[in-house]
Amino acid sequence: MIQRTLVLIKPDGVKRSLTGEIISRFEKIGLKIIGMKMQYIDKEFAQKHYTEDISKRRGEKVRNNLLYYIASGPVIAICLEGVDVIEIIRKIVGDTEPKSAIPGTIRGDYSHVSYGYADDKNLPVKNLIHASANKEDAKNELKLWFGKKEIHDYKVDHEEHTLN
Ligand code: ADP
Repeated sequence: MIQRTLVLIKPDGVKRSLTGEIISRFEKIGLKIIGMKMQYIDKEFAQKHYTEDISKRRGEKVRNNLLYYIASGPVIAICLEGVDVIEIIRKIVGDTEPKSAIPGTIRGDYSHVSYGYADDKNLPVKNLIHASANKEDAKNELKLWFGKKEIHDYKVDHEEHTLN
């Protein structure tokens, strides 16, 4: 099924000038970018993206560090479309913990720290990307990040080969 998902290149990815490298990985497998912008979010907006759910799953300290991290510089927000794109993107992005992310994934190729290291130093795990975890998250997150006029419906030339 064709789906849509939200990807954020987090401030570390933007500041390390990995934006082009990251986007090209999505394009090369035939996914379509239907919305994209750079945005510098404040803590209030960050709290809407990283909701209380993170505290329940990871603890309040992790959420606080995460809120600081995501608002520490501009992010690139991307709406991507493709077949089962939510699952496909999570596969390309790799494991949440850089240490565990396998080579070939974005996190595995461009980051390496462990939960142990980050937690010991009271730091967020800087892992370059956010990608919606499931259909419900994708729907809610896209609504938060993109207005209707910021999403563009068009055909890419290679659809003939990648989708048909
Ligand atoms: P994902 O981003 O892979 O969907 P989560 O939603 O569980 O993972 O966590 C959100 C973000 O919180 C992670 O991407 C990472 O940046 C950060 N994070 C998760 N666990 C920890 C941790 N133990 N210590 C520090 N930061 C963490």
